[in-house]
Amino acid sequence: MLQDSFNRQIDYLRIAVTDKCNLRCQYCMPANGIDYIKQSELLSYEEIERIVSVLAKEGVRKIRFTGGEPFLRKDLSYLIKSISKIEGIEKLAITTNATICIKYVDDLIPYGLTDWNVSIDSLDKKRFETITRRDEYETVIDCINYLKADPRIKLKLNTVVMKQHNIDDIIPLVELTQNHSLSVRFIEEMPFNGSGNEQAELVWDHKKILWHITEYFNHVNKIPDPQNSTSFNYQIQDFKGSFGIIPAFTRSFCGTCNRLRMTPTGLIKTCLYDKGTFNVKNMMRAGATDAEVLTAIQEAIRYKSKDGFEADKKRRGGNSTLLSMAQIGG
Ligand code: SAM
Ligand code: SF4
Repeated sequence: MLQDSFNRQIDYLRIAVTDKCNLRCQYCMPANGIDYIKQSELLSYEEIERIVSVLAKEGVRKIRFTGGEPFLRKDLSYLIKSISKIEGIEKLAITTNATICIKYVDDLIPYGLTDWNVSIDSLDKKRFETITRRDEYETVIDCINYLKADPRIKLKLNTVVMKQHNIDDIIPLVELTQNHSLSVRFIEEMPFNGSGNEQAELVWDHKKILWHITEYFNHVNKIPDPQNSTSFNYQIQDFKGSFGIIPAFTRSFCGTCNRLRMTPTGLIKTCLYDKGTFNVKNMMRAGATDAEVLTAIQEAIRYKSKDGFEADKKRRGGNSTLLSMAQIGG
């Protein structure tokens, strides 16, 4: 069992398989001038499988594939299928921008990839294009409709709330939950945009988002939050689906954190806000045994910060700047 010094059991690994992306969401990546990681610096699929096998023996049960845009990594389906066969892995999930994945959906569901999070920050084509700096609106909507129509899929839509861009989308997004059991999650914007500017001022925090929704809908009911959930969850009376608010910036969910992150290059992160603990790829390429890899991960987990504020403070103390979410894996 992987347990930190606050008795939190770590059973969920988020793997960023690539830093590449075909969108340029304003809150995540700069418009130009991105130096992508070289192929040889990426963890290979064999290396990823090895780490998951080591961790599955220690109680990791859930894997999320993310990025960058995970489907840009060549043969991602191959990796997902192999991970699904690792003993102990019970849940597979993916976070995607839904631009190129529609053709893989039916092939991957039988392997247990039924938990799909799709990012969409606006239901308005123009606003979508402004936010993502790309013309992929119709493709994304088609894919969301495709996922929505499949009863095997647990669909969540992720929306980063940005004062200057998509406040008018909050209510229409909640309305999507009227006739469908999907969940829409509104995420507080974090300063992980690759610009190095950390002086983020959060205007639309979780309280303001909730207030905005309750001003419009008469009956907003609090519903139970799943174990280890990062969102506060609600449902409009008589609606089939639900909505959640993720206080990613105000960080009130850290107490129940059960996550470990691995970046495309193999940096192990025990918190979104930390600078990374050690590089597992370098260790494996230097000849480390499985036992040594496990010891290093256990050690990293032992020093997992109490919360994102503590991790952030330590990172700043080490003069390390925040990466883009595409490099960390959101
Ligand atoms: N490309 C995929 C996507 O967009 O769903 C997966 C990777 S993306 C980095 C994962 C999640 O991180 C997305 O839901 C995105 O909205 C979120 N994200 C990225 N940058 C963020 C930021 N600065 N603040 C809050 N959420 C962010
Ligand atoms: Fe790409 Fe996802 Fe970042 Fe948008 S949020 S730029 S889709 S990695």
